[in-house]
This record gives sequence, structure tokens and C-alpha cells, in this order.
Amino acid sequence: MQAGAMKDTHLCPRCGHNHILLVEQIADQVKFSRSGTSGGAYAYWDAMVLARLKSERGEVTVAGFLEATCCRSCGYTELYTKNPADIPIDGKYVKELVGPEPPAHPSPRR
Ligand SMILES: [Zn+2]
Repeated sequence: MQAGAMKDTHLCPRCGHNHILLVEQIADQVKFSRSGTSGGAYAYWDAMVLARLKSERGEVTVAGFLEATCCRSCGYTELYTKNPADIPIDGKYVKELVGPEPPAHPSPRR
């Protein structure tokens, strides 16, 4: 894990630039809407999330808001999911894949 995430290193792993944008909420798309009778147009956007879940009663919830870091020089972008441990696993829309346990720590220090 030497490389590290741009979020932590503040360095672009591709070009080495040291100005990184942290985008705390990713706009899924921007729409323009008219607010009924008042007629004023306003912009709103949907925040991008990792998962949409639907309960058996049909209630839709979303989980896993995304954030991103973006290199200001080359545009290289990394996506992260906030609080991944909080995303519910329902076995239908979200499944958990578990890999083999990592080998026991070799205790490099003596
Ligand atoms: Zn870069």
C-alpha cells in the first residue's frame, strides 16, 4: 500500500501534481426545473450514490454517497464511497463478496 490514495497523499499518482480537488458531493446531473406557479427556474442536482435499495414494501433508500478527488493538472479522478460499512447488505441489490483471509501478519519488526 505504498502508493496511497490521492485523498491522503495530496499527490497525483499519474503525473505527480500536488494540487488535488476534493469533491465532497458528486453531482449526478444538473436539471433545470420550473417551480409551479411562481415560474422561477432553479437548478438542482442529484448527488451520486453507490446503491439504491428497495424494501419489500417498495420503499426506496439510497446508500453510499460518493466523493471524489481529482488532479487539477491531468484530471485523474479517484472515487470513494463514504461510510462503506454503513451500506446495508440485502443480498439482492447489494451483495457482499468475501475473499480469503489475508495471511497472518508476518511481524516484520523485531
Ligand atoms: Zn495528475
